[in-house]
Amino acid sequence: MAYQIDSSCIGCGACASECPTSCIAEDGGVFKVNEAECIECGSCANVCPVGAPKLA
Ligand code: SF4
Ligand code: SF4
Repeated sequence: MAYQIDSSCIGCGACASECPTSCIAEDGGVFKVNEAECIECGSCANVCPVGAPKLA
């Protein structure tokens, strides 16, 4: 299990700044989670203005 960022991402970068393991990175204008390093803390989902990060 890990958080994944869905297609509603608007590329604001707020989640990447909050991620404690720095496992979120920009990729072509949107942001993606390196699932191997996600500890499922939920910080990305808490700060995202559009609710794009979801536990999957
Ligand atoms: Fe990073 Fe936590 Fe989001 Fe996983 S749940 S991507 S560790 S902020
Ligand atoms: Fe995308 Fe939400 Fe992260 Fe902003 S906070 S980059 S909208 S997933």
